[in-house]
Amino acid sequence: MQRITILGATGSIGASTLDVLARHPDKYSVYALTAHGRVEELADACRRFQPARAVVGTADGAQRLEQLLAGLPISVEYGEQALCDVASCAEVDAVMAAIVGAAGLAPTLAAARAGKKVLLANKEALVMSGQLFMDAVREHKATLLPIDSEHNAIFQSLPQHYARDPQAAGVAKILLTASGGPFLNRAVETLGDVTPDEACKHPNWVMGRKISVDSATMMNKGLEVIEAHWLFGAPAELIEVVIHPQSVIHSMVSYHDGSVLAQLGNPDMRTPIAHALAFPERIASGVPQLDLTDMAALQFYKPDFSRFPCLALAFDALRAGGTAPALLNAANEVAVEAFLNREIGFRDIDRVIADVIDAVPHGPAPSIEAVLGQDARAREAARAAITQLRG
Ligand code: NDP
Ligand code: MG
Repeated sequence: MQRITILGATGSIGASTLDVLARHPDKYSVYALTAHGRVEELADACRRFQPARAVVGTADGAQRLEQLLAGLPISVEYGEQALCDVASCAEVDAVMAAIVGAAGLAPTLAAARAGKKVLLANKEALVMSGQLFMDAVREHKATLLPIDSEHNAIFQSLPQHYARDPQAAGVAKILLTASGGPFLNRAVETLGDVTPDEACKHPNWVMGRKISVDSATMMNKGLEVIEAHWLFGAPAELIEVVIHPQSVIHSMVSYHDGSVLAQLGNPDMRTPIAHALAFPERIASGVPQLDLTDMAALQFYKPDFSRFPCLALAFDALRAGGTAPALLNAANEVAVEAFLNREIGFRDIDRVIADVIDAVPHGPAPSIEAVLGQDARAREAARAAITQLRG
């Protein structure tokens, strides 16, 4: 029986994880569930899965959750320290890291430092502090398994010995597929007018609002390029983004002998979640089998960097290294939130990020404290850029 903590249990990945766990009560038990503000949704999940502990964002939230769960043997807690504790305590075997954004860094790192099996959806944590995070994984012998569908596909398309000896694996390219999001074919000059709801209407995937906007700007793919760099020790030159609007191939690895290995499946996050939960075994996920004869043609294109400037900004940040990806990530989080709140337009998102990267000097990232300091400076600079845009 594996005991699981789900960080971000009320989100889109959290719900898909609970769906997979519910299919295998003989294999998994839920130790802790966490949320930020959606207390009623967390209470529903707690009644269904009966965790030992539940964590929310604030004392008020915890008080409400306690009332909703009165009579049940569930300890209710709040705040970052509690998140770190349910991710790292001895009672836990595996942690699903599915908090959105930089807020996920501390508890995800705590799980790695405690040597847990870390199922990583929270790509922002790795983008912010890649070297430090991977060092913690190695030092504390944690097991890191990618949930992001592309990285899970790459993981499945690499040989088992890749981690020990990447040179011997003969990898020529990592081909990261991207759907291109809802605005792949929309006239570029009309992109300034798109609404948050239009940006969140992804053609293939149902996801939280932040990652949906990231998919529309293709910053999501940019963050994923940086994520792939850290997960697979691959330099920027080895990673190529390929637009594949159908999202059937979830990514590929091209080898020196001319072979290309791919992982295919219906676009449903329960597949990578089930893969990582059971690895190296396979369990049912609830996702229907892919019917290849039922499929229209699969298409592939090169990305247009002028339509998607965020993708170029992310490649630049990866090449710059140090704290540059943390600046990129923080500026993007603030800009996306401002866009979702209708404070700025869609095309202002990349402007804010570029302004922040110009304004805030980046350098080495020797400690988490240094990364968090740069994260805070970038958020301040992003807010200043937004105020200027609005004025
Ligand atoms: P959602 O917005 O649907 O869910 C986010 C979760 O994080 C919720 O449980 C939310 O709680 C919690 N949360 C939000 N802010 C905080 C905070 N400050 N402190 C603690 N918890 C917080 O996001 P997704 O599930 O879509 O995405 C989660 C992560 O997975 C992201 O990093 C995303 O990039 C990654 N990912 C998602 C994919 C998808 O298909 N959705 C695919 C690949 C990666 P509450 O509900 O209470 O606000
Ligand atoms: Mg992805």
